[in-house]
Amino acid sequence: MIMPTNNVKISDDINKQLLGLTNQHIHYLTNESQTNKSLPNKNLTNDNAIKPVQASSKSNIGIHQQMRSAFEELRQSAKIAGLELKIASGFRSFERQLQIWNNKFTGNTAIKKANGEIVDISRLSDWQIIEAILLYSALPGASRHHWGCDIDVYAPNLLAADESLQLEPWEYQQSGPMAKLSAWLTQHAAEFGFYLPYDCYRGGVAEEPWHLSFAPLAKQYQATFKLQALQECLINTDIAGKIIIIDNLDRIAKHYINNVNTDV
Ligand SMILES: [Zn+2]
Repeated sequence: MIMPTNNVKISDDINKQLLGLTNQHIHYLTNESQTNKSLPNKNLTNDNAIKPVQASSKSNIGIHQQMRSAFEELRQSAKIAGLELKIASGFRSFERQLQIWNNKFTGNTAIKKANGEIVDISRLSDWQIIEAILLYSALPGASRHHWGCDIDVYAPNLLAADESLQLEPWEYQQSGPMAKLSAWLTQHAAEFGFYLPYDCYRGGVAEEPWHLSFAPLAKQYQATFKLQALQECLINTDIAGKIIIIDNLDRIAKHYINNVNTDV
């Protein structure tokens, strides 16, 4: 068991890393540590949801290089407790997040409510669509998944053969298939430096019991984040809803970016 120290210093260009504009800080996991047969693949509308892993030696799951050993310790400890800890989503680039955003804004990808229902965007104003997206998907440039030290986790061995996972809160609650994982994370994640930034709904992002942050790195990214830099980045991109986003950036930051669990 390790007690992570706070002296992990982020190297290279932290400003680019914050916005998802580089993957130089990322280590891509091998398929051996990620491949799983029980992954669901049908009708996934949640960008957080698990995608099948490709059959190359490197998976498409990347994590921060300086989080590798802490994650490995967490994984080993979970294994001893009977949980096969896997990452559903790790590092995401700005480009990928932009694609997710634009697909949702234009209706190419369904937007979900916290209860799993699909939002009917035809009845919503642009601002209401933005708020509906922000419940589960971050603004490009403001996703904690850009940092590489934030991961969505699940335990495939808790799923029945015919069961799939959508990454919805109920799945991690008491009667859900991931309840045992949730209980274990609540009790032990902190021993390895991990915590849940979206541990409950605070009026912004939905509760995300699968989303872990590695505190020694995440705290540095969070402290370095500048709204001005995000604004400059977004102005130069083809993001759907740009004018309304820029006009409401302070509001978005207050309710959806900075409004996280800071009790770490
Ligand atoms: Zn996440």
